[in-house]
Amino acid sequence: MSKPVVILGAGLSGLSCALHLGQKIGYGLYEKEKTVGGLCRSVSQDGFYFDYTGHLLHLRQDPSAALVRSLLGKNLNHLNRNSCIYSHQTFTRYPFQANTYGLPSKVVKECVLGFLQARLKPRKQSGNFYDWVIANFGSGFGRHFFFGYNEKLWTLPVKYLSSGWVGKYVPRTTVEEVITGALSDQTKKFGYNATFWYPKYKGIQSLSDALAARTGHVNLAESALKINARDKAVLFSSGRVDHYQRLVSTMSLKELLNMIEDLPAAVRKAAGHLRYNSILNINLGVSPTLKNDKHWIYFPEKKYPFYRIGFCSNFSAYNHPRNTSSLYVEIAGRPGQWDGNTGDIERQVKQTVALMRQIGLLERDSKIITVRNFVIEPAYCIYDQKRESSLKVINDYLRTRGIHSIGRYGAWEYSAMQDALNWGERTATSIKEDLC
Ligand SMILES: Cc1cc2nc3c(=O)[nH]c(=O)nc-3n(C[C@H](O)[C@H](O)[C@H](O)COP(=O)(O)OP(=O)(O)OC[C@H]3O[C@@H](n4cnc5c(N)ncnc54)[C@H](O)[C@@H]3O)c2cc1C
Repeated sequence: MSKPVVILGAGLSGLSCALHLGQKIGYGLYEKEKTVGGLCRSVSQDGFYFDYTGHLLHLRQDPSAALVRSLLGKNLNHLNRNSCIYSHQTFTRYPFQANTYGLPSKVVKECVLGFLQARLKPRKQSGNFYDWVIANFGSGFGRHFFFGYNEKLWTLPVKYLSSGWVGKYVPRTTVEEVITGALSDQTKKFGYNATFWYPKYKGIQSLSDALAARTGHVNLAESALKINARDKAVLFSSGRVDHYQRLVSTMSLKELLNMIEDLPAAVRKAAGHLRYNSILNINLGVSPTLKNDKHWIYFPEKKYPFYRIGFCSNFSAYNHPRNTSSLYVEIAGRPGQWDGNTGDIERQVKQTVALMRQIGLLERDSKIITVRNFVIEPAYCIYDQKRESSLKVINDYLRTRGIHSIGRYGAWEYSAMQDALNWGERTATSIKEDLC
């Protein structure tokens, strides 16, 4: 079979690429799973809709925001973020760097003093995340939030982590905001996710399904196995071979490179430098309804294995049965940590439930009525000192072979659903310009 464009993966970036290629250029879209959506998927179990961990829409104003609205129509809730941090047995508002009010005074003093010292004596920055935090927020905020939280999330000492990802994800604060938030319960909204959208019905899967309904045919349960980049051909699990002019891959960049026959040694070496973590996502259905009205909570302290817990029943009244609540827990680990390790996963679930009872997030009479675990791997592509130079070697090679590796894992980046939609659109536009 010969197609101008072959797209691998029907997550948001692959689906969006197909949508924007439209009818003008023939393409084949292949997905290894039996359903579309990639990470933007949900399963229904015992009346609960569980996402592959919380997936909230933080929409910037660009054409993909309009696309999401048109796809979901009335199936959208618009919510004001209600999130916080739990540390020193205290809940404080998000973000930590603007809201220390309520913490022990010693902690508040360390944070505020460190921040002022950082402002008074600007430091030269090395590019690593540790130095970036010290320069922008000071040692107190580092010690009480940034270092612990990020080491848990990225599973890497903060001195090995680069600051290349912080962009929109870490809100900056002024002296006035830090002081106001130390002396009072500051209600000012910070950051890109101060408000968010979420489907009313059927979880985040409804977005992927709506998008897939607008694209052409998706070949499900069809895995790419091998790529001959010289002859421009892909071999699939069914034995089918497709020839292409342009290949769009949205699978993990490491997986793509592993499939390419005759990969140059320098590119293989660069691929070996790409690091990632995995996430164990525990989803719980609880009865009766919890009193908690939070959307999610961050846990910077080492004594808690999870870095974040979210309450999905607070995103929509229709993603769980009556008189119940649902929540998700995220624990980061090394690649392969949970492969076939059901014993460890069960231990994590038990420990999580016990710690949530201890903190008071599960009330005395709360019963766990359903559990669903997902292992997400790769989950976060790690921004270390070798990431950028390795990506340059890899992308220079892929360009010469007519391969576009896009999306969160194809581009090997820390990005969101809207970015995936934008990747798809940009790639389709550039392919149309080249081939039409
Ligand atoms: C823990 C976590 C929390 C997140 N929370 C949010 C959030 O709240 N809001 C937000 O906007 N974003 C969030 N994201 C990011 C969001 O999930 C991604 O940006 C987006 O879904 C990526 O879409 P994609 O199409 O690029 O990749 P994917 O969704 O990974 O799609 C790739 C597809 O390729 C398929 N594939 C893989 N190998 C093959 C093969 N060999 N052959 C054929 N197909 C193959 C996969 O099955 C998959 O369907 C989160 C991500 C994580 C890890």
